[in-house]
Amino acid sequence: MLNIVLFGPPGAGKGTQSENLITKYNLVHLSTGDIFRSNIKGETELGKKAKAFMDKGELVPDSVTISMLESEVEKYPNAKGFIFDGFPRTSAQAQALDQFLTSKNTSITCMLALEVEETELIARLLNRAKTSGRADDADVNIVRNRITVYNRETAPVAEFYKKQDKYRGIYGIGSVEEISNRLFDAINAVVLN
Ligand code: AMP
Repeated sequence: MLNIVLFGPPGAGKGTQSENLITKYNLVHLSTGDIFRSNIKGETELGKKAKAFMDKGELVPDSVTISMLESEVEKYPNAKGFIFDGFPRTSAQAQALDQFLTSKNTSITCMLALEVEETELIARLLNRAKTSGRADDADVNIVRNRITVYNRETAPVAEFYKKQDKYRGIYGIGSVEEISNRLFDAINAVVLN
């Protein structure tokens, strides 16, 4: 299987790039943010639990997020692989994902980390708010909090994959196509190795 963690701060381009990766490699795209948003829309119990955290730009608790992610993976027993977009976002999530994939006789192939500086992220998110309809993109204070939470809780997750020699940094500025090509090159280098 080809299991990729697509990593990076809010606004780095994970969602956009996921679309190109799933098409090229025939993978299942699991975006925890998208799954939470569709649960909020559907007014499910999970959606109710997640909403208060998302509205503030805080992380949804690990217990809720991990069990949701695992049940999503279970829905695709014949998948050739997964793109994990927005997960793991804490060290506990990274450990849980490793254990879960090991129990399925598979593992993470690599973490591809989109690197974009903070001023660019804020500009992108505020611009995205015009079309995304996301309240957490439209308010600059929430946007800043999401980046703060990323730096505090999520950025350290990179270390987990660096220790396993699975981390690949990808320069995240350029056209969508240029960045996709950088991602393809990184995947091919890992897979052909
Ligand atoms: P995203 O669509 O990835 O920007 O995520 C939007 C929001 O969903 C985040 O600000 C968090 O509140 C929540 N969220 C998404 N993924 C996770 C995760 N792996 N762990 C905790 N909260 C998450």
